Amino acid sequence: SASRLAQSERESAWREMAKQVAHEIKNPLTPLKLGLQLLEKSWKDKDPKFDAKFERFSKSFVEQIESLSSIASEFSAFAKMPDTRMQKLDVIELLTQAVTIFKQMDNVTIHFNAPEQPFLIIADRDQLLRCFNNLLKNAIEAMPPSRPGIIDIDYSIEGRSILINVRDNGNGIPENLRTKIFEPNFTTKSSGTGLGLAFVKNSIENAGGKVWFETVLEKGTVFHLNLPQAQA
Ligand code: ADP
Ligand code: MG
Repeated sequence: SASRLAQSERESAWREMAKQVAHEIKNPLTPLKLGLQLLEKSWKDKDPKFDAKFERFSKSFVEQIESLSSIASEFSAFAKMPDTRMQKLDVIELLTQAVTIFKQMDNVTIHFNAPEQPFLIIADRDQLLRCFNNLLKNAIEAMPPSRPGIIDIDYSIEGRSILINVRDNGNGIPENLRTKIFEPNFTTKSSGTGLGLAFVKNSIENAGGKVWFETVLEKGTVFHLNLPQAQA
């Protein structure tokens, strides 16, 4: 049946995902282990360059550990997907909550005029919040240091759906990468997980919606989310 087919597709997607995540976890472990062994040896040998080595290594250790930790949290978000808790919720309220947190960062200005009216959709609350967080985080990470970062969020009601636009003035996405960004594990960042947008796509589709983007190099990117209204 169609639902059995959907389930087996989901299972093979899971297996693929698990394989890739295992790979991503193994990657930083090798340099961590080698680095610690090297430091231990240099400490025992009373190497005069030990202090400098230690400083250099410890910084990269922290980066590797941070990358492991974000793989773990993004994967556990993914792993929760089969038993999602779908409920009626106000997408405006949730978006406002995400924006409020990111507004506290001082390298970016976020424009968002939240409407008075709620817009009810059916979604998993945690998933959707994480989805907005991922989009905002990506927008901030796309900002070049040379100009002030601006994120513009607006929305419009289109029939029985809401269209939400999250626009940044970041670097944009090079043409050859545009078909890849929603793939799990695709990243251009040295300590990225590549799971953020895969998660965004999954959580929006779980809520019956669609996500797509437009981008212009050196000008910025806009992510569009279309989410259907909950039935009365
Ligand atoms: P990560 O952020 O860990 O790299 P994502 O799945 O969130 O993983 O994003 C995948 C890739 O898509 C990023 O590495 C980046 O190259 C690109 N990307 C995502 N959002 C944006 C954006 N707003 N502007 C430019 N590039 C982006
Ligand atoms: Mg990301």
